[in-house]
Amino acid sequence: MANPEAPLRIAISGAGIAGLAAAISLRKLPGVVVDLYEQAKAFREIGASIGLGPNGLRTLETLGVHNALREGVCIRQKGRHHQVYRHWRTGEVLAHDTHRAVTEPQHATARFHRAHLHAALLEHVPLNTVHLGKKTIRIDVSEKDGVVLHFADSTSAHADLLIGADGIHSATRKWFVPHHKLHWTGWVAMRSTFDASLLDGVDFPDDAAHWVAPHRSFFHGHLGHGQFTTVGGFTVDPANPPNTYRNVHWNDEGSLQRLRDLYQGWHPTVQALLEKTPYTRLYPNMAGEPLDTWVYGGGRVALIGDAAHTHGGAFAAGGSLAIDDAYCLLLALKHMWPATGKPSPALIVHALRLFEATRRPHVGKVMTLARHQIIGKLAPGQKSESDIGVKIGEEAEVDDDKKLLEFIRSRPDTAWINEHSVEVAFQAVVEAEAAKVERDRLPQSQL
Ligand SMILES: Cc1cc2nc3c(=O)[nH]c(=O)nc-3n(C[C@H](O)[C@H](O)[C@H](O)COP(=O)(O)OP(=O)(O)OC[C@H]3O[C@@H](n4cnc5c(N)ncnc54)[C@H](O)[C@@H]3O)c2cc1C
Repeated sequence: MANPEAPLRIAISGAGIAGLAAAISLRKLPGVVVDLYEQAKAFREIGASIGLGPNGLRTLETLGVHNALREGVCIRQKGRHHQVYRHWRTGEVLAHDTHRAVTEPQHATARFHRAHLHAALLEHVPLNTVHLGKKTIRIDVSEKDGVVLHFADSTSAHADLLIGADGIHSATRKWFVPHHKLHWTGWVAMRSTFDASLLDGVDFPDDAAHWVAPHRSFFHGHLGHGQFTTVGGFTVDPANPPNTYRNVHWNDEGSLQRLRDLYQGWHPTVQALLEKTPYTRLYPNMAGEPLDTWVYGGGRVALIGDAAHTHGGAFAAGGSLAIDDAYCLLLALKHMWPATGKPSPALIVHALRLFEATRRPHVGKVMTLARHQIIGKLAPGQKSESDIGVKIGEEAEVDDDKKLLEFIRSRPDTAWINEHSVEVAFQAVVEAEAAKVERDRLPQSQL
């Protein structure tokens, strides 16, 4: 940051949801140059769905990403309930979740094909600022050069501030926190997206639903652009060495037969939907402990999205959390932005402190709940992950509706996650800081 006239250079590693939302957000600051570095050589369609809650949708709207909220690009429930839980065998609706404080229809939970959400975000980022085939492998930080990103193709890029948005396996996080480990939770999702017309002739509820049994669940729902998703899966003991699924990778081809076998004896609607599902891909769910900080390199590097919070796929919340992280960076930097020129390194450090103080406690609560949820959702009555001790296909079907009902009814209320307002939280942090400054200014006798 030697030249005060030069623009502030912000590099973002990773052009997923967090990276694109960060680019859209940070480009709103005056006098910045924002560049995105993505390891993929081209954006490929990932055949998976993603649901955004009111939190992420409101933030996208605030950022001007109206195209993502449009019905048709995404799909919302026709009924009042954004989540519906059905009995695995009878199809009876056991419970549902309803938004609390959502007054605008476009803020109700929306389901997308991931590629369509990605494309909607990408429309707001100049393509000449997105550098593909740039896999970050090393990061140098110094007073003199700022941040230098080194890529696998032997090129490098300089920046004043690096945002690590490179996902759950983040190279940025690994670089600064090498001891941080991810573990497989034992849950493997089997997902597919396909054209809804494949379901012509199949009778199924229009609204998306989770069909729940003691040991597993099944999800189906419409997505934007006439797409449909089915999500099955299973949870096994992650420590069980003979488990053949322990080494699968994200997006590996799965066995349709295995998927259909998992749901034998389920309601005919579930079986009919799986009969029409044309393929399935595997998504082993990874998670890790919360980080002590999301800011590294003396305040020149910040982590956001899955790079910062390795909570796995819990509560289908990660996309919205990533969007809110990105927007919070904008709020914090804007708050500290000087009237003229660009912020000094000290002001940036201060901004990142505000960002962390807003996001980390909230996301920390999500991670704590996710951890309990992973243990809690294994099966009614099961105490810990290591208690499972079962192999795929050998789970005893605990046909105990009472326990299942208890399990569903005791599910956590997640409105505080998906209706969270990052703006309100940020304002509270700013006010708390101002109050502290005021307290520190007063002589002891006046306190
Ligand atoms: C089974 C499952 C279901 C889920 N369902 C939902 C859902 O319905 N709703 C929801 O909100 N969330 C859901 N999530 C979570 C959600 O997918 C993530 O939280 C979200 O994608 C995080 O976005 P991100 O941008 O941080 O990371 P990612 O989406 O993983 O993006 C990271 C980007 O960084 C790039 N990258 C990685 N390494 C490097 C590198 N070294 N250099 C440069 N680029 C790099 C990657 O190629 C990628 O483009 C689910 C997760 C799972 C596992």
